[in-house]
Amino acid sequence: MKVQLLPSTFDENGKASERQHLMSVIIDDCVAIDAGSLAFASTNEQRASIRDVVLTHTHLDHIAGLPLFIDDLFATLTEPVRVHGTQEMIDILERDIFNWSIYPRFSELKNSHGPVVEYHAFERGQSFELKHLNVKSVAVNHQVAANGFIVSDGKTSIGITGDTAETDDIWKAFNEEKQLKAVMVECAFPDELGELASVSNHLTPQRLASELEKFTRANCPVYVINIKPMYRRQVISELENLMLPYVSVIEIGKAYEW
Ligand SMILES: [Zn+2]
Repeated sequence: MKVQLLPSTFDENGKASERQHLMSVIIDDCVAIDAGSLAFASTNEQRASIRDVVLTHTHLDHIAGLPLFIDDLFATLTEPVRVHGTQEMIDILERDIFNWSIYPRFSELKNSHGPVVEYHAFERGQSFELKHLNVKSVAVNHQVAANGFIVSDGKTSIGITGDTAETDDIWKAFNEEKQLKAVMVECAFPDELGELASVSNHLTPQRLASELEKFTRANCPVYVINIKPMYRRQVISELENLMLPYVSVIEIGKAYEW
């Protein structure tokens, strides 16, 4: 399985920056988990093949690229972009984003081939098939109703927490997933901003360390994602000091094969 966290911004040399402002994980170049930077950082090949976007939740850093992704493709789509989310998330998108004021309501528009967007609702905790993949949603503990996912191609499974504070179900689900090859976990804030992490339902390195005590797949690599860019260095140094086995920070833009 090929897994890539798309870059969010560029550095002073015009290369992909390691600072992650937005979240978009591309699986096998055809399915996107979240659409934060989907319109900005996907390759032409990915743009041509990604027609399924699965959302963890509707915070802006996870959906920012969705309106422009659909817009960019509008005239060329021969099948709709399928947006997978809970009904609550779909209602929020229609009410707050695709409301004609922020952006056109694409669900009411068609090109010469037909609809350009289609919503597919899933229940939290539900599994569904997507192309060659099985996607299992697991409720996590964030400020809004949010999901983590286990994505499996039948041989390899990977876990993604999305944004979350302390939570139990997803660790249980990860522990039970037989073919789990890697997990991606959030760690947004440094330890000194623990209070901010609490009110915004995110993790800090110390809290991540406690969370990992629930994870019994000891030799499974854990990749840290969603570090707030302003605190990146501090979070990384705190993680290094904790010397957590099998834990590393994901390389933004790199295509991992698991
Ligand atoms: Zn969030």
